[in-house]
Amino acid sequence: MTIREQLEERERRTLAPQAAKSADTKGRLRPEPEDGIRPAFQRDRDRIIHCKAFRRLKHKTQVFFAPTGDHYRTRLTHTLEVSQIARSIAKVLQLNEDLTEAIALGHDLGHTPFGHAGERVLNTLIPGGFNHYEQSLRIVDVLENERRGLNLTWEVRDGIARHSKGRNGMPVGADAGHRASTIEGQIARVADIIAYVNHDIDDAVRAGLLCDKDLPEEQLAVLGRSSSERIGRMVTDVVVQTLEGGLAEIRMSDRILAATVGLRSFLFDAVYENALATAEFSKAGGILGGLWAKVRESPEGFLDHRTIEEEGLDAAARDFVAGMTDRYAVNLYEQLFIPKPWVSLRGI
Ligand code: MG
Repeated sequence: MTIREQLEERERRTLAPQAAKSADTKGRLRPEPEDGIRPAFQRDRDRIIHCKAFRRLKHKTQVFFAPTGDHYRTRLTHTLEVSQIARSIAKVLQLNEDLTEAIALGHDLGHTPFGHAGERVLNTLIPGGFNHYEQSLRIVDVLENERRGLNLTWEVRDGIARHSKGRNGMPVGADAGHRASTIEGQIARVADIIAYVNHDIDDAVRAGLLCDKDLPEEQLAVLGRSSSERIGRMVTDVVVQTLEGGLAEIRMSDRILAATVGLRSFLFDAVYENALATAEFSKAGGILGGLWAKVRESPEGFLDHRTIEEEGLDAAARDFVAGMTDRYAVNLYEQLFIPKPWVSLRGI
C-alpha cells in the first residue's frame, strides 16, 4: 500500500459518510498517474498555491484600490481568511479539509484588477460579458502552466465555478442546480461571505469610510460587536445547523442568515457602491477601457497568439486585461498613454 493509499484509507475511516473522498474523485480532464504520497485533492491544493495567478492575488484589490496601509486586505489575504474559515468548518463536521481548502484557495483566481469595479468594467467591454468565477475556471483549466492548465479534479473545478453569490445570492440554501455538488464546495461559498462581511467592515473603519457607530444595530445585536465575535457566531451556527440537518447540505439558521445578509446589504450601500467607490469605479473604467482598446489595436506585443488563432482577439484581450494586478494595469497605462517628461539630448 502506498502512502497515498494509506491516507485515502484514513479518509474512509475518519470522515463523515457525506464527505467527498479523494479516492472517489470523478477524475481530471486529462487522466494522469496518481501521486505516491498525496491524495488527489491535496495535490490540487498544492497546484493552486504554486500557480502564478495565485501569487498575483497579492496585488489585486479587495475593496480599496492599491492601499498604501500595510494592514488592508488584498485579494490574497481575503483568500487565506476564506480558506481558514472553510477548513475550520470542514474539520469540525468531519468533511474533507483538503477539498474545501483547494476550492477556497482557487475561488478568486479569476478576479480582475480594481476589484468589483474592474469586473463591472470588463463586463461591459467584453462581448458576451465577464464574470470572475468563469475566468477562475479558465485559469485553472487552460491558462496556467503554459496553457496546459492545472488539470484539477472535477470536484475542485465544480467548487470554483459555483462559489459566487453576488449582491442578492444566498450563501446557503441554493437549489441543487445553483450550488456546488460537494458539501465541501458549499462550505467554501459560505466561508467567503463570512470572511468578507467581517474584514470589509474592519477595512472600511480603518479607511475612515465608516466608524463603529455607523454599523447597523439590528445586525450587530444578533451577530456581535467585534469581527471575531461575529465570525465565531456565524461559524458555530453553520456547524450546529448543518449537523442538525444530517450533513445533507450546508445550512444556517434563519436568524443568523438574515443578519449576515443584512450586513452584506449594508456594506453594498455604505462601502462598495458609495460615492467614493463609484468615483474610483469611473477611473478604473478609464484605465481598463484604454488598455482594452490599445492591446486589441496592436496585439503583437501583448496578447497570446495561440489564443488569438484558436479563440479570437476578444478572448486573448480578456485573458490579458483580466489577469493584470492593479499596479501592472496602472504601470502599463502610464507607459502607453502618459507622455514622459522630455529630457534634452544635449543635456541642457
Ligand atoms: Mg471571495
